Amino acid sequence: MSSTLEHSDTAEAVTTFDSLDPATGDLVGTHRVCSAANVDAAVGRARDAVDWWGNLSFDDRADFLLTWRSVITRRIAQLADLSHRETGKPHGDAQLEIVLAIDHIAWAAKNAKKVLGPRKVSPGLLMTNQAATVAYHPLGVIGVIGPWNYPVFTPMGSIAYALAAGNAVVFKPSEYTPGVGQWLADSFREVVHGRDVLQVVTGLGDTGNALCRARIDKLAFTGSGRTGKKVMAACAENLTPVIIEAGGKDALIVDEDADLPKAAEAALWGGMSNAGQTCIGTERVYVHEKVFDAFMTEILAQADGLRAGSDSGAQIGPITMPSQLDVIRSHIDDAVARGAKVALGGPGAVGERFVQPTILTHVPEDSTEITEETFGPTLAINPVASMDEAVRLTNATDYGLAGAVFSKANGPSIARRIRSGMTSINSVIAFAAVPGLPFGGVGQSGFGRIHGPDGLREFTYAKATTRQKFAPMMNLTSFTRTAATDGKVAQLITLLHGGKQTLR
Ligand code: NAD
Repeated sequence: MSSTLEHSDTAEAVTTFDSLDPATGDLVGTHRVCSAANVDAAVGRARDAVDWWGNLSFDDRADFLLTWRSVITRRIAQLADLSHRETGKPHGDAQLEIVLAIDHIAWAAKNAKKVLGPRKVSPGLLMTNQAATVAYHPLGVIGVIGPWNYPVFTPMGSIAYALAAGNAVVFKPSEYTPGVGQWLADSFREVVHGRDVLQVVTGLGDTGNALCRARIDKLAFTGSGRTGKKVMAACAENLTPVIIEAGGKDALIVDEDADLPKAAEAALWGGMSNAGQTCIGTERVYVHEKVFDAFMTEILAQADGLRAGSDSGAQIGPITMPSQLDVIRSHIDDAVARGAKVALGGPGAVGERFVQPTILTHVPEDSTEITEETFGPTLAINPVASMDEAVRLTNATDYGLAGAVFSKANGPSIARRIRSGMTSINSVIAFAAVPGLPFGGVGQSGFGRIHGPDGLREFTYAKATTRQKFAPMMNLTSFTRTAATDGKVAQLITLLHGGKQTLR
C-alpha cells in the first residue's frame, strides 16, 4: 500500500493497493482504496444518473445495453487478457466466461420489457368494476459486491439485470480483480456518454462495508458465506435488502445406467476447471457402486496429462488467492488422515502457487473435504449403494447451490429430490449458460436470484395499480353501507366460496 494523489471527491490523501498476477507475482495494476466518503459520493452520482437512466423506455435502455454487449464482444481478447493476468486462469477460460456474460447482457436487455412492463391482472368477481395492472419499477441505486473467481460472469449476473431493470449500479469488485471491474465500468461509461450509470469503487473489505452502509436501495453480494453475514448485518442498519450468492459443495451423482465417459468428463471438468475455484464447481461425486470401478478407470484415464502450471500446455491455472492454499491442503490432509484413498495427486499436490489435480475416494463423510467448500482442484468420489443414498448424502450439507445428475432413465426424478437451486442432467453447470433460468441457492449458499425473469424482478419493486372503470353495484368502502348490503355480501360470498367444489 502507498499513499499518493489527492482525490477529487474529498481532497483527502488516497491510499492504493496492487493487483498481482497470481502465477508470477508480477504487478498487474495499482488501484485506489475508496473511502466511505468516496463510496457515498459515487452513490450520490448514481442517484443523479438514475433520474435519466430509470426514465428511459425499455427499448432505449436495451439499445444502450446491446451496444455495450457489442463493445465487449469486439474487445473480448483485451478483457480476457486482463482477467487472465488478474486471476491466472487460462486465456480460453477467461474468454468463455466473458462469452456467457455477453449472452446474459443480451437476454436481460431483450426481455426486460416483457418481464417488467405493465401487465393486466384479472380483478376477480368481487371487483369486476376495476382494471388492475402490475408493473415492476426500478429500485434506484444497486450496490454490487463481487468475488474474483469469475470476475466478469458473476457480477454481470447482478449488473446487467439491475441495469436492464432501470437501476444505476455502484460495483465493488474483488481486490484481486479490480482491473476487470474498472474495465467493465469504463466500457459502459463510453456507451452512455460519460454518465454515472455504472461506476466502480475499488478497495478492500472496508470499501465493501461502506457500500453496504451507503444510501443504496439493494445490495447484491457474491462471495463467501462468512462475508455474506457481515454484509447482511451492515445492510440491516438501513433496512437495505440483500441478495446473497455464497459458496457451495456441489455433488455430481452417477447412476448405474449413466454414460460413464461423459459423466467422468463432466466430473473432471466440473472439479478441476478454473483450478476448482468455482462456486458451482463439482466438489463431491457419488457413484453407484455397480459402476464405481469402471467410473474410476475412466476418470483417471481422462485425467492423465491434466496439470496445473503457467505454460501453454497447462489447462489449470494457479490458485488466485494465496490464503486458499492452506484450506485446500488442510482438506486433503484431513481426508487422508481419516482414511480416504488417494487416486491422483494427494497431500503433495499443493505447491506455492499451483495445486495439481487431486482425486480422493472413500472419503469419510465427516471430513472437511466433504463438509466444507474446498475451492481447489480436488474431487471426493464415493461409492453409494443406491440413488436414495446418493440423494441423502448430496442433501446432507448446509449448502444447496447446484449439482448434476448422470442417468439415462432417472435424471429428472433424481434431480427433483436434490435440495439445491440448480441441477444439470447429463451435463455440468449448463444451467448457468441458459439466460432464462434463475441462478442462486438455498441454505448456506444464500438466497435471492440473478438471471432470467426472477433475476430481473429481483432489482425492482412490484407496483400494483387498480383503476375504477365504473361504479360498483354495492359500495363497500363507505360509511353509508347498509345492513341490507351486508346481507347481499354474505349471500354473494356463500355463492362464490361456500360450496365444497375443489380444483378438479
Ligand atoms: P469474499 O467473501 O472473501 O469476498 C467477496 C467480496 O466481498 C470481495 O469484493 C471483498 O472485498 C468483499 N468484502 C470483504 N469483506 C467485506 C465486508 N466486511 N463487507 C462488504 N464486503 C466485503 O469471497 P471471495 O474469496 O472473493 O470469493 C469466493 C467465494 O465466493 C466462494 O465462497 C465462492 O463459492 C463464492 N462465489 C459464489 C458465487 C455464487 O453465485 N453463489 C459465485 C462466485 C463465487
